Amino acid sequence: MTTGIEQREFQAETRQILDLMIHSVYSNKDTFLRELVSNASDALDKLKLEAFQDKDLEVDTSDLHVELEVDADARTLTVRDNGIGMSRDEVVDLIGTLAKSGTAELRRKLREAREGAVSEAAQEELIGQFGIGFYSTFMVADTVTLLTRKAGEQHATRWESSGESTYTIESVDDAPQGTSVTLHLKPVDVDDHMYDYTSEQKLREIVKRYSDFIAYPVRMKVERPAPKRDDATEEGTDGTEDAAVETVTETLTLNSMKALWARPRGEVSDDEYNEFYRHVSHSWDDPLEVVPMKAEGTFEYQALLFIPSHAPFDLFAREHRSGIHLYVKRVFIMDDCDELMPEYLRFVKGVVDAQDLSLNVSREILQQDRQIRAIRRRLTKKVLTTIRDMMTSDDDTSREKYRTVWSQFGRVLKEGLLSDADNRDILLEISSFPSTHSEDGQTTLAEYVGRMKDGQEQIYFLTGETRQQLEASPHMEAFRAKGLEVLLLTDPVDEMWVTSVPEFDGKPLQSIAKGEVDLDTEEEKKDAEAEREEQGKQFADVLAWLTSTLEEQVKQVRLSTRLTDSPACIVGDDYGMTPSLERMYRASGQEVPHFKRILELNPTHPLVEGLRTAHAERDDDPSLAETAELLYGTALLAEGGELEDPAHFAKMLANRLARTI
Ligand code: ADP
Repeated sequence: MTTGIEQREFQAETRQILDLMIHSVYSNKDTFLRELVSNASDALDKLKLEAFQDKDLEVDTSDLHVELEVDADARTLTVRDNGIGMSRDEVVDLIGTLAKSGTAELRRKLREAREGAVSEAAQEELIGQFGIGFYSTFMVADTVTLLTRKAGEQHATRWESSGESTYTIESVDDAPQGTSVTLHLKPVDVDDHMYDYTSEQKLREIVKRYSDFIAYPVRMKVERPAPKRDDATEEGTDGTEDAAVETVTETLTLNSMKALWARPRGEVSDDEYNEFYRHVSHSWDDPLEVVPMKAEGTFEYQALLFIPSHAPFDLFAREHRSGIHLYVKRVFIMDDCDELMPEYLRFVKGVVDAQDLSLNVSREILQQDRQIRAIRRRLTKKVLTTIRDMMTSDDDTSREKYRTVWSQFGRVLKEGLLSDADNRDILLEISSFPSTHSEDGQTTLAEYVGRMKDGQEQIYFLTGETRQQLEASPHMEAFRAKGLEVLLLTDPVDEMWVTSVPEFDGKPLQSIAKGEVDLDTEEEKKDAEAEREEQGKQFADVLAWLTSTLEEQVKQVRLSTRLTDSPACIVGDDYGMTPSLERMYRASGQEVPHFKRILELNPTHPLVEGLRTAHAERDDDPSLAETAELLYGTALLAEGGELEDPAHFAKMLANRLARTI
């Protein structure tokens, strides 16, 4: 079955990526080979596993390998593997489109890059973060041809593109099982870092540097001048005769194939770790931290984990998968093994090689497996203590690493405060938050506690959308007046975890927008007692009237001790939900009741005092109810809230203003 050649268009984003790649300033073009060898190695892993699990699959797995083939005259380089291969549909899905596209963030960055709005360094970082895999071949090739036959299938697929807007695809009758990628290389241009990728020396160097640990041999046939005639029949070589020089073909293996995780840390260089990280994580940057682990005893396993230095684009995408690959006794079992890491550590990459699991494990079995659960517990602890060690280190570089971890992954780590009660203490220890203590820095809870004032028993916080909004909120007034530090929590996840974490170091966490606030010392209280009592009496009528006038909006109106400048603010009771949490639940499709809150008034504010006198003098004046509504509306606006009927509010306000002009 040979169908005609079909020409297809690349998806818009794919075209943009290609464009970026081809015209890229990315200086390290050598990396295309790392990407191809890495894909080939994955394909060999998959075939090995498939052959093990499906005994009916007729494939030869006795010599799994990657092969490089050059033709210096034609200027081509072919990377061939005898791995799992791809079906025609897979070629279209995996190669013709870009699986990881679709995030709005990526599209925005691509547009900026195209419009030249970002620097060359930022373009490089974009390519680096995005990890453009197969497409990186277009940095060095004018035309790329892929020929592939999937294990167990009869027909093969040929795909070709010159990296512009289209590619061609056709079915072909025969091709060896596996995949070969042939690059028609661009002319050598050393100034542009376009080296001679048909040179044995160059290819050896690249494979050694980037792919040494690959578990399968990466082979290349090379021509060597023949030794003296009587040695020419040596094993593994076949003599060819040339008119001038006699040569023999020799097959070289370019990589050492040593599993990196099985080697002691001292023997592995940073570069080797970095390359391995790029291989397992499909990214292009360096990891922030390498975490090797070895467990002996009941459950034996080795692990090599990496904390990345950048959050990926899709960290919060629903389909984001974990980055841990599972091996059993050096045999690849699966990538993205979710069971080995809690979801809030989904940014951690690496491999786990377990000794005592069956090669037949499936995801279903893994979920039940005691050993997997034990490994997961250990890995989780290890990652968290590694982050804590960075944070508490005497070394500036380590502390800087902690700040990077927190700025990139803090929002994800905080999910653990909700979901992982066992590790809550250490998670609280490694968390940092913006606070009123400093304009731009962050504080740990321990540092906050260290600064607590005499007599202060709680850790105060306020949640909301932006720092600016929180700082301007009326709830802050009394705390600012008393010089009390408040944590300013503005991540959506903050609304959630604060409801499930009662305390840190014996100090309760307290929202300053909830409950009653009592910041006065005993002495101050004594001094103010008489005044409070007097105010209570004076305001009793107007408060009762307001409570009934505003009963749709609030459940009570009372006098406040937390305001110094604003006339009013709205507070929750201790157990109610905040309006933003209510909104978040609704946005996620959950039904939640509307929690009415409490309106607090500042008895020393002229508006409040004026309302009291006006109510005492003419309680039948209909404009008083309007004032009440305006007072409630401004309190809502002041905390950054949303009015139920903004048009109605604006009209009332405009009419009022008109009367005062
Ligand atoms: P990535 O490797 O980061 O997923 P690539 O663009 O390099 O991105 O490859 C896309 C997909 O194409 C791979 O995930 C794999 O499924 C498939 N693929 C690429 N190369 C091969 C190969 N040599 N053999 C089989 N499948 C391959």
